[in-house]
Amino acid sequence: MEIPYKIYLSESELPKAWYNLRADMVNKPAPLLDPQTHQPMTAKDLEGVFCEELIKQELDETTAYIPIPTEIRDFYKMYRPAPLIRAYCLEKKLGTPAKIYYKFEGNNTSGSHKLNSAIAQAYYAKQQGLKGVTTETGAGQWGTALSMACSYFGLDCKVYMVKCSYEQKPFRREVMRTYGATVTPSPSMNTAVGRKILEAHPGTSGSLGCAISEAVEVASTTPGYRYVLGSVLNQVMLHQSVIGLETKAALDKYNVKADIIIGCAGGGSNLGGLIAPFVGEKLRGEADYRIIAVEPSSCPSLTRGKYVYDYCDTGMVCPLSKMYTLGSGYIPAPNHAGGLRYHGMNSTLSQLYADGLMEAVSVKQTEVFEAAEYFARIEGILPAPESSHAIKVAMDEARKCKETGEEKTIVFGLTGTGYFDMYAYEKFHDGKMEDYVPTDEELKKGLANLPQV
Ligand SMILES: *Cc1c(COP(=O)(O)O)cnc(C)c1O
Repeated sequence: MEIPYKIYLSESELPKAWYNLRADMVNKPAPLLDPQTHQPMTAKDLEGVFCEELIKQELDETTAYIPIPTEIRDFYKMYRPAPLIRAYCLEKKLGTPAKIYYKFEGNNTSGSHKLNSAIAQAYYAKQQGLKGVTTETGAGQWGTALSMACSYFGLDCKVYMVKCSYEQKPFRREVMRTYGATVTPSPSMNTAVGRKILEAHPGTSGSLGCAISEAVEVASTTPGYRYVLGSVLNQVMLHQSVIGLETKAALDKYNVKADIIIGCAGGGSNLGGLIAPFVGEKLRGEADYRIIAVEPSSCPSLTRGKYVYDYCDTGMVCPLSKMYTLGSGYIPAPNHAGGLRYHGMNSTLSQLYADGLMEAVSVKQTEVFEAAEYFARIEGILPAPESSHAIKVAMDEARKCKETGEEKTIVFGLTGTGYFDMYAYEKFHDGKMEDYVPTDEELKKGLANLPQV
């Protein structure tokens, strides 16, 4: 059967339920712990900060399929099912016998897969009768997706944006305001924690950890508000399973069996969502796949981190999660893939990696941008720097196939577009981009203050 350049699913083939991979895992991810008492978090403990239904999803490790409410599916229908694209042109250019497919998640205004979870989280907040939600955003993709989702459901959205991004990425900020969000540069004078940080470091340009602490404080002290998070948590990975379910349905339609599945890993949500149904088959002994997580060499949590309990945020207010981590105090070098600058990793992916069900590699940013540009010039899409980590490794695997003559099928996740990252592309074009690889000493420092669990 001739395989088209783009495999589209019809609206009726849009998944009706998310897939919860934890249900099929024998070794479940370790439970979240209370940062003070180190006891497992119960739903009750989480209620003050998070939405009720999302807590249920976070703690559910037995229900394999969780129905997608009609209201969320209706929103998905505006930009999904996302196409699975056969990279015929790239294959030809590389001269590889490998067959390359990518799932493109950049077809919405927010420009990334993050909208898949934002709309679900906004829906459950609305269902609970809340007035609004708070969150933090670093590079701005999550804040953009959440403001779109909140405006759709008529919820207020307060975004704490890391000050340096707020100043450097005015267009992202204005997109959020277009969708009605309030965007505050962090640290701010709005919160006790912000005032404290500003007093101690008057000229600070902020950090993600600090923005999280501010967003959590506002959510827990403002009636009718809760805090929502765009990655790392298992509820986010659950919502992102829509990516993998669609990918699998599209491949099945043409009887294509993937050999290698590749995704970039920041907090792990897009990768976790993409691989979930495939790893499910692997766990049930129905099929085998090579799964590869790609991370920046400047923030190598899987390849060089430790598998221990750690704080999810620099402010140490969020629950403890057992994960591969560089330490919550680790400040990654300012690389240009903002969405991958997170010290830890989703707990489910961490467990899979510990059990040898997934591989991980780290790549340097200049080689990532080389791959991004190569890809853009032949496939047309201008990829986000984060997504380009997966492109780089997919191209490496395809080149290996050229040497060995193997006709492997490679599938990778293309998480988003790079229109707001042209400053990074400019640095690359001007030859001013640097590669940061932390020394063992630097990594040791980051891991010095792990909680004693
Ligand atoms: C946020 C982001 C990522 C990384 O987040 P994950 O939770 O690891 O998926 C990757 N690509 C893009 C385009 C992003 O915006």
